[in-house]
Amino acid sequence: MKLMHYIVSVLMTGSVALQASCLDLVRAYPDSLKSCSGNTLIWRDGTKMRYDDGKRNKSFDELLNRPDLEDMFHYRYPKGAAGYGKAPRKNFDPGRIRYEPFFRKMYGDSAGKVKRHLTTIPWIPRSTGGKYRIRVTRVNGVDRQLRKVSQDLDKLLQKHPGYRKYLVPVGGTFKWRTIAGTHRLSVHSFGAALDINVKHSAYWRWNKGPYRYRNEIPLPIVKIFEKHGFIWGGKWYHYDTMHFEYRPELLGTGATPKGLQAPKKSGAVNGGNLF
Ligand SMILES: [Zn+2]
Repeated sequence: MKLMHYIVSVLMTGSVALQASCLDLVRAYPDSLKSCSGNTLIWRDGTKMRYDDGKRNKSFDELLNRPDLEDMFHYRYPKGAAGYGKAPRKNFDPGRIRYEPFFRKMYGDSAGKVKRHLTTIPWIPRSTGGKYRIRVTRVNGVDRQLRKVSQDLDKLLQKHPGYRKYLVPVGGTFKWRTIAGTHRLSVHSFGAALDINVKHSAYWRWNKGPYRYRNEIPLPIVKIFEKHGFIWGGKWYHYDTMHFEYRPELLGTGATPKGLQAPKKSGAVNGGNLF
């Protein structure tokens, strides 16, 4: 019956890929999202958001500035060694396409509202004597996931103490601000992003002269963040190698769900049905 519901739903919306990506969202953020039905993403509080605006062939500028939820999956994020160590193709920015109302609703739509969800956690305390602490959101268990990142990095640093310089001092976490040169809010505004040491990082806007991709951050560091749901800005054409942000929908990972609701007997497709 579940499969039948899925097939009916897919026939009604006309796209398997559309439904599958919508479900990637539900699976990635189970605390906030409930299901996908037709072209609608349904939140646990009953809020409905249109998934696909139906516009095709958007320019890169339109993808950045007027995206819908579906556009967030326009570029597939390459995990692990894939996409590491070479310049991404022109404008290949998986994760930079963000439907802002989605993140505002999830984490808070003002600095004050975001701050209510923030907590402070230690950052690689075993390697630094507990010197560094970071402020991050508790929404979606981002704080728990970053604790896991921190623990795994502490272990990595036992083997590779030289990597410490990439991770501390921390560049920053929470700050309600727009992305430089744009009107779009940074994910730092939501307490769901972390910049590691700025000194060993590269950012495309700092590049003088013709485009050139640069990176110093070792792959094992990137892999640990990805394992726990954070994408890396070093895999973007518009690179930002200090930057990690919580985007489990692009990685097929996420915090341990507090419990997906049992599938209902309706045409709606629930994330728990398929994954
Ligand atoms: Zn950043």
